[in-house]
Amino acid sequence: GLTERLQNAMKRLRGKGKVSDADLRDTMREIRLALLEADVNFDVVKDFVKTVRERAVGAKVLEGLNPAQQIVKIVDEELTKTMGESAVPLNKSAKIPTIIMMVGLQGAGKTTTAGKLANHLKTDENARPLMIAADVYRPAAIDQLVTVGQQIDVPVFEMGTDTNPVEIVRQGLAQAEENHNDYVFIDTAGRLQIDEQLMNELAQIKDLAHPDEIMLVVDAMTGQNAVATAQGFNDKLDVTGVILTKLDGDTRGGAALSIRAVTGKPIKFVGEGEKMSDLDVFHPDRMASRILGMGDMLSLIEKTQKEYDEKQAQALTERIQENSFDFNDFLDQMQQIQKMGPMDQIMKMIPGMANNPAMANAKLDPKDMDHTKAVIYSMTEQERTNPDVLNPSRRRRIAAGSGRPIQEVNRMIKQFNQMKKMMNQVSKGNFSGMEGMMGQ
Ligand code: GDP
Ligand code: MG
Repeated sequence: GLTERLQNAMKRLRGKGKVSDADLRDTMREIRLALLEADVNFDVVKDFVKTVRERAVGAKVLEGLNPAQQIVKIVDEELTKTMGESAVPLNKSAKIPTIIMMVGLQGAGKTTTAGKLANHLKTDENARPLMIAADVYRPAAIDQLVTVGQQIDVPVFEMGTDTNPVEIVRQGLAQAEENHNDYVFIDTAGRLQIDEQLMNELAQIKDLAHPDEIMLVVDAMTGQNAVATAQGFNDKLDVTGVILTKLDGDTRGGAALSIRAVTGKPIKFVGEGEKMSDLDVFHPDRMASRILGMGDMLSLIEKTQKEYDEKQAQALTERIQENSFDFNDFLDQMQQIQKMGPMDQIMKMIPGMANNPAMANAKLDPKDMDHTKAVIYSMTEQERTNPDVLNPSRRRRIAAGSGRPIQEVNRMIKQFNQMKKMMNQVSKGNFSGMEGMMGQ
């Protein structure tokens, strides 16, 4: 499976002190193949591998983490990002009922999942849902919803198979209004493939019901097909969320990776079994760890990194107090900030900074930081560690090398020197003049 392939891809890096270009190329090739084999969409794989490679090349060797761990961490973070970063909650209407329309191909799990979600809301928030049986093409479909309703003790509105689904939904909503149901699930029909007639019917139901959530139910076992399906439904109905079902089976996980990237719509829940309780909120980070099969290893990496950051912060405070803060420290700090690092925490470790209102004004523009980094990258090691040598001719060379105007280089060096002085003074308990400097 995907997990094994990815683990193998990264195993070859294990124990290496340094990753060569060839190692990285091989690893990336393996990751690419693993994802393609898991049926992840080709364009998604292409983007993914490109980003991971760029980050791996640019990654600074982090103390305490070997190269394999670092690449695992990058892959994990990028997997998470591809799947949407964080969990997205169910859309809710300000005024009851919240209307949830279930759409998807036949057999995807619409009926089962409507029951699971209704059950989840019932247990979680004491909700009083109503389910509407709007799949009239198979008598068994209505019976199935009624059975599900009995199982979880949720009422089902049905009118048999002879009434038009749009009319059923209209009357079902009227009933929900009357009974003050807080959620309404509309269980719609599916087909084996997307067809025009089905889409038109769903569009009509959407126009009538104005659902708060159009939940596309997708069978994760169908791989690439799942993505094509999602695209088809999304194009026609502009769905608001996705539920991936059958993740309990021997699924390749590829669908989870592709769907968000291809449709831009969040996966909100996952189905992991046939029972009514087998529904979970979708957490991209947990899914990424699961795909990597490295939950433990990842938490270890997190911990190592945290310790490293703390150690670094301590060392930094000492360097500030000795007034030996240099451009390498500055670069480190910017890198910390750019990976959402603990710059503010580091600043807070400096006596007097924690509650200073000037902290709030210290705004950092990522583009400015990239420019500043470019300038520092163009400095020699001697210039970085001993900024006093930065005479005009060196500054001109740096400006040319970094592609930034000389005025900007001068301004940046001046600000660096001010900041260094300010941090040194603050660390010694002298706060005068600090406000002005923090504001820039
Ligand atoms: P619908 O045609 O979209 O309404 O699909 P159904 O709700 O009837 O589900 C089709 C089949 O998939 C049923 O046998 C369900 O029990 C099964 N099913 C749905 N969700 C899951 C799931 O998350 N895991 C497993 N293993 N089976 C599921
Ligand atoms: Mg059904």
